Amino acid sequence: MTEKHIASVSFGKDSLATILLAKEHGEPLDEAVYCEVMFDKDISGEVPEHRDFIYGTAIPALEQMGVKIIVLRSEKTYVELFTGRVTRGPKKGMVRSFPLCGKCAVQRDCKIRPIQRYQKGLPPGTVQYIGIAHDETERLLRLEGGRQVSLLAKYNFTEKDAREFCRKAGLLSPVYAFTDRGGCWFCPNAKLSELRHLYDHHPDLWARMMELQAIPGKTTEKFNRTQKFSDIDAIFRQEDEDTAQAAA
Ligand code: SF4
Repeated sequence: MTEKHIASVSFGKDSLATILLAKEHGEPLDEAVYCEVMFDKDISGEVPEHRDFIYGTAIPALEQMGVKIIVLRSEKTYVELFTGRVTRGPKKGMVRSFPLCGKCAVQRDCKIRPIQRYQKGLPPGTVQYIGIAHDETERLLRLEGGRQVSLLAKYNFTEKDAREFCRKAGLLSPVYAFTDRGGCWFCPNAKLSELRHLYDHHPDLWARMMELQAIPGKTTEKFNRTQKFSDIDAIFRQEDEDTAQAAA
């Protein structure tokens, strides 16, 4: 029996370069699997520029190369997890609120669970291509030998090579213009520069986070390890005022 080969894809440079390498070198590839985290039923958790790239550019390009794409989504959303109530313990009845840095419930429920459910349906011995670059030594050591394979390592591709490969193929996500990491736009690990991008370019999404921050009775007021979302909002407003004053 021939084994099934799948690629996990986030449409970041490393996973896309993996698929491009598979196609270039004739590596077996049955399908590429993408899990989209949703903010609510209608709004993606992907940074909007990345989502547009995924559906408008990357998926059509891969499909044209003959790559089958599987899109997974959890029935749970960020907003549902946020507004759900704690059912036991000293915080019983409180609004769950912001996911914790390093212990993200969104990752557990909206990403890992749908992927695990999908993996259960795969035949034994399925080989999974993971987008880990040749220069990510520690992450490579954690791959489950035989079952998880890095094509980037096999073909000696560093992260920089992967980025360049995608760029040349016209498949480098526009998010790399303002960040070097992927992730949800509401991620507690987001850097200030990423949040500033959201504040400047997606005020509708920013307003949704401010609405969530205003919900009373939350288990925590903190968006990340140290700040409330409203603290970050205040920082950006101040920056805008300072810029306006300097320009006056
Ligand atoms: S990117 Fe951030 S918010 Fe999204 S699932 Fe991962 S840790 Fe959670």
